[in-house]
Amino acid sequence: MKITIMGPPGGGKGTQAELLEKRFGITHISTGAIIRKAISERTPLGLAVQDFIAKGDLVPDDVVISMVKERIAEPDCEAGYILDGFPRTIPQAEAMESMGISLDCALEIRVEDDAIVERLSGRRECGKCAAPYHVKFNPPKVEGKCDKCGGDLITRADDVPEAIRERLSVYHAQTEPLRRFYQERGLLRTAKGCEELADTTKNVLQALGVE
Ligand code: ADP
Ligand code: ZN
Repeated sequence: MKITIMGPPGGGKGTQAELLEKRFGITHISTGAIIRKAISERTPLGLAVQDFIAKGDLVPDDVVISMVKERIAEPDCEAGYILDGFPRTIPQAEAMESMGISLDCALEIRVEDDAIVERLSGRRECGKCAAPYHVKFNPPKVEGKCDKCGGDLITRADDVPEAIRERLSVYHAQTEPLRRFYQERGLLRTAKGCEELADTTKNVLQALGVE
């Protein structure tokens, strides 16, 4: 099974992708997480893209496309995968088609812009394993610590007001056109994102026709 999950920044893509990874036994691939890891390890790729990320802009298509190409060639992707944050532009979606990848569905999580700002300001991420948390909507068992690995939770550099506004406008301009792209192919499934994680999950499973 191959799924892409899309939605506005802070809309809960990463969290839902993790749940689907467990549920379906397929690999979760987050382009944002791959990029942030490269930045923290100061690899050539990381150094080349860190300014785009800090501003809330997209990383150039060719960079992300070759990143994904490499990642999905790994053995843990044989049984399928969930692409979280890719494709994010029409050229990325077209590149994927020309690689011969056919998705089973494109799942969209819809959240209003107003809700996004509150969500992003409370978002935290494990500095070690990148697991997502939210101080209000998805808190860790021990404050400031990752449930899975005990790592310290951090706030992402792009979860600051100026970058949040930019990411939202980039989403509307560049990523939302993908709804139509996948609708035309009969692959679009939409789930409403809710405050409560469990409600969003319910909508997601319903949209996928699993429950
Ligand atoms: P969010 O959706 O919450 O903004 P992500 O972790 O998916 O978080 O992405 C963070 C940042 O990584 C994006 O703002 C963008 O700069 C970069 N990025 C991730 N995926 C892509 C992509 N497919 N194309 C271009 N840039 C990307
Ligand atoms: Zn962790």
